[in-house]
Amino acid sequence: MSAIATLFQEGARLAAGFRETAFARHMPSSDYAASLAVFDEPLSAAGSDMLDVIRQLSDGAEPGLHATTGPRFFGWVIGGSHPVGVAADFLTSAWGQNAGNHVAAPAAAAVETIAARWLLDLLKLPAESSVGFVTGATVANFTCLAAARGEVLRMVGWNADADGLFGAPEITVLIGHDAHTTVFSALQFLGLGHDRVLRLPADAMGRIDPAALPGALDAITGPLIAILQAGQINTGAFDDFDRLIPPLKAKGAWVHVDGAFGLWAQASAKVSHLSRGIEGADSWATDGHKWLQTPYDCGYAIVRDELAHRRAMTIAASYLPLAGEGERDPSHYVPELSRRARGFATWAMLKHFGRNGVEALIDQCCASARLMADRLAREPGIAILNEVALNQLVVRFGVDCPDDEGDALTRKAIEKIQSDGILFAGGAKWRRRDVLRLSVTNFQTTSDQARLAAESIIAAYKSVSDSAGHGSG
Ligand SMILES: *Cc1c(COP(=O)(O)O)cnc(C)c1O
Repeated sequence: MSAIATLFQEGARLAAGFRETAFARHMPSSDYAASLAVFDEPLSAAGSDMLDVIRQLSDGAEPGLHATTGPRFFGWVIGGSHPVGVAADFLTSAWGQNAGNHVAAPAAAAVETIAARWLLDLLKLPAESSVGFVTGATVANFTCLAAARGEVLRMVGWNADADGLFGAPEITVLIGHDAHTTVFSALQFLGLGHDRVLRLPADAMGRIDPAALPGALDAITGPLIAILQAGQINTGAFDDFDRLIPPLKAKGAWVHVDGAFGLWAQASAKVSHLSRGIEGADSWATDGHKWLQTPYDCGYAIVRDELAHRRAMTIAASYLPLAGEGERDPSHYVPELSRRARGFATWAMLKHFGRNGVEALIDQCCASARLMADRLAREPGIAILNEVALNQLVVRFGVDCPDDEGDALTRKAIEKIQSDGILFAGGAKWRRRDVLRLSVTNFQTTSDQARLAAESIIAAYKSVSDSAGHGSG
């Protein structure tokens, strides 16, 4: 066997070994400090043998790896990194294409074009929209909001892309009270300021209160960007697009939607009522590496007005033909020039699942979330604080105790769940109280896995509440 084949096979063997055992193990045995100790050595002068490097990397890293790819990983909102996407990513790395333009990487550019078309079709967004393949929803929000910034200023005769923001007409940014922190990062990067926003009040689930919009709009003049949300990070709730988008559009706003995971509701007949009206927006940010299960480093910036998208992302936009008129250069829709060919893994996942497979995946995650919610809610002392309409659960323990005791019990239950190691989920603050947050976004989380997880959570809670002298009630 050639040296390359031996090396690649060893990489594949180690990868498969990890995936097969990740099923059983939910907490890393090494934390950051322990992992640092493993790798902490001076850079060697002589270098190391190829095979040794890969084996040392695997041996050193594995104890510090979370089982994010396993069926009972409910922490943050993290997809499963499906094996088909991983294999496509191996190839992407091995091919070493620079996906900046279609001359340097014809196949990569072509596959992005097709994957973009499939995504728009699946997510029921306007077919004329352009899609940038970015690192994730943070950069997707940034990219979409850059297009928004350029366009709302262009409408009042200001070229922000050429002339910057010094002396520009002021833009009002409307955003919901419970928007994701990364959207504020995007505003920060764009010179719009993360605090220089008008926050619309939200209801108990984190949805913008539509009744608050008319009053807010009356007070606004000039360029306006409104940021709505599909899938609140804790509750999974959606803004009411049907009620919010028309008055915003009537006011001349650019409407952007952060749909990092929630946009995928569009792909399922069972939950697409949640996102009704979302196609009326101007731009949408979503992730491939959450619900579509691609490996990490994969999100999509989707913009209805392709020219606005390109103006924001490339200096040459004005003289280049639109994609419909010529070949599509991937770099015209993203901040980077040289990059990995992200379209291959997206194409592979869409090809593998097909339309029905994506729908079944979304439905399975939502059904598993519902099953866990129903089981946990039946247990005395445990309450589900959100309407479980999608895949997110906000769980509170010690509901019969005073708030501070409930906070303490909730934190203890989370510690116990994590140390038991049967599943992983983490804590969050919701409406200033401690909660356990569960996100079901893994293709392997079947009803059996959900049942096992729910029983383990209940057992962990009973053990901490008994030892705290509360009984389990
Ligand atoms: C995860 C998430 C983001 C950020 O996405 P990344 O892929 O981590 O960059 C933004 N908004 C929401 C609602 C999210 O869930």
